[in-house]
Amino acid sequence: MTHKAFVTGWPISHSKSPALHGFWLDRYGIDGTYEAIAVEAENFAEFLSGLKAHGFAGGNITIPHKETAHAMIQNLDPAATDIGAVNTIWFEAHVICGGNTDAYGFAANLDDFAPQWREGKRALVLGAGGAARAIVYAIREAGYEEIRIANRTYERAEKLAADFGDKCQPIKMSDVAGLQSDLDFVVNTTSVGMNGDEGKLPVDVQALPATTIVTDIVYTPLETPLLAAANNKGLRTVDGLGMLLHQAVPGFEKWFGFRPEVDRQLREHVLGLS
Ligand code: NAP
Repeated sequence: MTHKAFVTGWPISHSKSPALHGFWLDRYGIDGTYEAIAVEAENFAEFLSGLKAHGFAGGNITIPHKETAHAMIQNLDPAATDIGAVNTIWFEAHVICGGNTDAYGFAANLDDFAPQWREGKRALVLGAGGAARAIVYAIREAGYEEIRIANRTYERAEKLAADFGDKCQPIKMSDVAGLQSDLDFVVNTTSVGMNGDEGKLPVDVQALPATTIVTDIVYTPLETPLLAAANNKGLRTVDGLGMLLHQAVPGFEKWFGFRPEVDRQLREHVLGLS
């Protein structure tokens, strides 16, 4: 039997997920399909309820449906529950289940390239948008004692910090410069740096300790201005592409019954996409 999976969003044509999952289906010779399906917000509920009848084993949910899926699905994993968004769905005994694999993907990428990130105590998270929720969840799960969250719109940093508990504190962008000499870990979750975005981040990498790990979840370009500055200072850096690749692993395993590998060949395949 051919196993069927999908990614849905609106729009969806930009998604790299079909190429990513298609690469694995080919590599492992699996009898399966993974297709992109554009669904408008008003049709999402109907789409979700028809999945089983259309023979889907599950799929990925992306913008703008992640929060709607969270509200509609009863059986959620702990990450989806806390993050408030679902990016992966599957069926267990005909019951639809929702998970969020972004935090897993973020952590697995760091575990690959800078495993000592788990030993840190103080982190700075730049940004408080949708992706930041998964990042704060992952850093909290890694056992950090203090997570400082800075965002251009301060109220969103306050809300995010309040949602994730007493290890999190909102800080003003203008206060970042004075609060970075004891940081173990810095992550940019804003879109600043993406495709030449001219926005400016408040971090002065020269003022970071020599042991600070710096990562960016933006992966176009692979070396963002933040990572370039950190690399120039000789800091350990990790780019954001691995997060995209690793977040796809749990879904693939659930739908197709095989745990795929993230490796250099997959990175090059996805990097080669226009
Ligand atoms: P989002 O919900 O729209 O949030 C955008 C964030 O960027 C907000 O914190 C926003 O601040 C901030 N921002 C935007 N322009 C800014 C500027 N000029 N100066 C300062 N802050 C600015 O987006 P998202 O879904 O969180 O995604 C954020 C980025 O992460 C995107 O580039 C996305 O491609 C990337 N991403 C990567 C992965 C991966 O797998 N590597 C996964 C998810 C997302 P305000 O609140 O003040 O507007």
